[in-house]
Amino acid sequence: VDTSSAQEFDCKEKLVLPGFIDCHTHALFAGSRENELSMKLDGRSYMEILKRGGGILRTVRDTRNASDERLKSETRKRLDRMISNGTTTFEIKSGYALNLEGELRLLRVLRELKNEGYDIEPTLLSAHAIPEEYSGRSSAYVDEVVIPSIDECAKLKLATFCDVFMEEGAFGEAETERILNHAAERGMKLKLHADEFSDLGGANLAAKLEVISADHLAKSSLRGIEQMGKKDVIGVLLPGTQFSSLTGTFADAKAYSQAGTPVALATDLSPNSWIESMQFVINIACYGMKMTPEQAIAGATINAAHAISRGSISGSLELGKDADVLVTGLSNSYELPYRIASNNLKMVFKKGRLIRELSDR
Ligand SMILES: [Zn+2]
Repeated sequence: VDTSSAQEFDCKEKLVLPGFIDCHTHALFAGSRENELSMKLDGRSYMEILKRGGGILRTVRDTRNASDERLKSETRKRLDRMISNGTTTFEIKSGYALNLEGELRLLRVLRELKNEGYDIEPTLLSAHAIPEEYSGRSSAYVDEVVIPSIDECAKLKLATFCDVFMEEGAFGEAETERILNHAAERGMKLKLHADEFSDLGGANLAAKLEVISADHLAKSSLRGIEQMGKKDVIGVLLPGTQFSSLTGTFADAKAYSQAGTPVALATDLSPNSWIESMQFVINIACYGMKMTPEQAIAGATINAAHAISRGSISGSLELGKDADVLVTGLSNSYELPYRIASNNLKMVFKKGRLIRELSDR
């Protein structure tokens, strides 16, 4: 290796970490939904807001109406702030177009952002919600949009993963299984939004289909969590979503360590839950879900890397892996979860290159 042009950085007595991997985001969208906070505070649930044409459906309207340029510029700003908070790799889902051409367009926009240098792992989530024009006709939506989007996506290699939002009011178990089996046959890797608001048996289905990760899991049964562990399915917990949805409850993180089911963490950044900082997610994982600092940091790094099938190239500081490195102003790893909503970073490196230097802290 030629190191003649290498630069040296003094990190003495500073906590150095692998870059955070945000393994579950909906970061590609247009617009905002700040008005929904007041609705949530009035006691309206996520599903009630959706039924009134808000929630995902509003973001679908905004995203469909936005040009590629506007989508890219709004998303770039988010990704840049996430990098400043230590995220060096992003999983980003489609799912705010909900028609064939639109979903493919979102994945093409992601490819363009990737070509600009953002390290993005793209996921097809055409099964995110039933759009208004298919209201009450979910199986027609699956036949006419979801299945063809998988075929096109596999052909054009636009996404690594296929994901489904399995929930009452979204996609049921039989539909979810059909969609994911079809994606597997087309060579895509699988993910699943499971048991977020109710236990529909999503964790069990995730184990049965041996998906790479099942995500949310706030209401999963103990048996489902154990089954996931047996099949090496990673549980991606999203405590920020619970926090911002005002549900007052979190996933049972202890059940995962008892069952030997690995846990990864992510922001779930979306217009419903606008969280750009993995440091803040680590805070809520400890203060809300009562994970240990060690578990939370592993969840934001190496386990998150496995949740997007990147475990062999990122997620830890090891020879042969990408040098995605965070230099903090902290002296030990316990300070990181302890300090709430701080940005503790001094420098962010991506593949050995300094991409962010933050003012002295
Ligand atoms: Zn999600």
